[in-house]
Amino acid sequence: MSHEGIRMISREESERAEQADKPLPPTSISPAKVKIAISEGTGVEIVWKDGHRSQWTFPYLRDACPCATCHEEREKTGRAVGEPRPQPKQLLPLYTPPAKPLSAEPVGNYAIKFKWADGHESGIYSWDFLRRLDEGLVK
Ligand SMILES: [Zn+2]
Repeated sequence: MSHEGIRMISREESERAEQADKPLPPTSISPAKVKIAISEGTGVEIVWKDGHRSQWTFPYLRDACPCATCHEEREKTGRAVGEPRPQPKQLLPLYTPPAKPLSAEPVGNYAIKFKWADGHESGIYSWDFLRRLDEGLVK
């Protein structure tokens, strides 16, 4: 998975920043196969038409929610996309179960949305967003 703490050199970073504004080729943002393993609880797997395979866990996708509220919260707290929220400092931390969706449904032919077990459901995960998320192009 591409989100596992890869340290980027600055040249790569600036190239990525440039790339972030460029449209992706249509085959890179069209899924050939989508697997959403809700009952297994594992996560989402997409095989794109260009042959690339992406995989995310449900907690990662929940913490990367693209809705305006979550986006704003990440900007304010400096939390990276997909990074878990910090645990509140308590003597006895409350157990929070890992995020999982109760259901997932297509939005038109360009996105999927999840109804998360915590009640949140405003994030629209477009194919473009998901591919960019996998490539590390989402801020
Ligand atoms: Zn959200």
